[in-house]
Amino acid sequence: MTQDHGITRRRLIEVGGTAAAAGLVMSGAAALGPSRNPVATGQPLPDGLTLPTAPPRAHLPGSVGFAIIGLGDYALRQIMPRFAQSERAHITALVSGNPAKLRAVGEAYGVPPEARYSYDSFAEIAANPAVEAVYIVLPTGLHAAWAERAFAAGKHVMCEKPMALSSAECERMIAASQRANRKLMIAYRCHFEPYNRAAMELMRDRAVGDLRLIRTEHSYRMGPTTPPQNWRVSRALAGGGPLEDYGIYGLQAALYLSGELPDRISASAYRPANDPRFAEIYAHVATQWHFPSGAAAQIVTSYASAGLNMVEARGTGGALVMRPATNYGGLTLALETGRDRRDLTPGDSEVQFAGQLDHLASAIREGTAIITPGEMGLRDLRLIEAIYAAAQSGRTVILNADATIAG
Ligand code: NDP
Repeated sequence: MTQDHGITRRRLIEVGGTAAAAGLVMSGAAALGPSRNPVATGQPLPDGLTLPTAPPRAHLPGSVGFAIIGLGDYALRQIMPRFAQSERAHITALVSGNPAKLRAVGEAYGVPPEARYSYDSFAEIAANPAVEAVYIVLPTGLHAAWAERAFAAGKHVMCEKPMALSSAECERMIAASQRANRKLMIAYRCHFEPYNRAAMELMRDRAVGDLRLIRTEHSYRMGPTTPPQNWRVSRALAGGGPLEDYGIYGLQAALYLSGELPDRISASAYRPANDPRFAEIYAHVATQWHFPSGAAAQIVTSYASAGLNMVEARGTGGALVMRPATNYGGLTLALETGRDRRDLTPGDSEVQFAGQLDHLASAIREGTAIITPGEMGLRDLRLIEAIYAAAQSGRTVILNADATIAG
């Protein structure tokens, strides 16, 4: 990674910041006080999951072999089945803390016993040439350590969002990728999703005129749970909670639709008393951004309200409305100008999963640039840290051009 102190704000939007997070305030996780990591690994197969019964299709020559680390809900329900749609990626190994699940999933996906690893035997993957890349689908608090282990084993890394719990962890991951000379991509699937890509293009073409306001909300009501039962409410594994997990889609959308990085951030974060779900994390976070152009963004996320998945961009000439905006499918995109409303159907959202796999494969094979690199994940963690700093201090936080906090 090169250090470019002359980097423009727009370039930062595209690739994320690179400078060290000097003087960074404590992260959302640290802000919530001491915690522990009580969550046990090795959960059984998720309820109602159907594993494939047919062997995987033969992969094409040049396809990149992936190991999947963490056989949880997202890996098993969304990611692993979508390898069948990939042109350039296939599954060659599995890593899990649950031997029975490892066996069942290995058989279903045609992964031989010698390519099924436990967390303890993971280092042996270095000697498996069929594995060129590792897809980390673990709880967020484990991303940094496992990315470092994967790079140490000489593998490329696809890492689920959010990249990690802090900008310091992100910097460690980027440094490890550079030391190993291996690629690091963050699985920001919306960059490969047709509705979101069409929205980016419309905004670049100034379809709403001069942008004035972006509003995003990513909320749902979480059922009863506690940190020992669910890593998403454990500070050590999830950080501050809904912002890192779900609100990050709205944060991303505000950046890729505006094409700007905020220069001022204010925020509030709320944690109710006596609710075991929020013993360690926030229930909701709301933040307001000021962009250098004068446009504003309001980004709201909650684990404790009726569900909504929404992105809107309003300008001098119209509005772009997505509802839902960032789900796996069923998205809508409307362009409203005056009394006119145009509903757009730019493509099948399903392609986002294989699209991101093929994207990393192309970067590995042809050296093409990754549009969601580690630097983008780092930028987003810096913004998350600024949001928590603003919420804790009750003051507006001023940002440098690399998304670090000024002063
Ligand atoms: P799950 O809890 O369903 O799965 C996580 C898996 O990680 C577990 O099944 C387990 O696998 C493994 N694991 C290892 N150590 C632990 C631990 N201490 N506590 C809990 N699990 C552990 O989570 P998800 O699949 O929902 O999320 C995993 C990642 O994917 C997260 O980073 C999340 O943000 C991301 N995600 C991304 C989405 C997207 O749309 N891009 C959507 C949903 C999640 P095993 O039993 O095999 O050891």
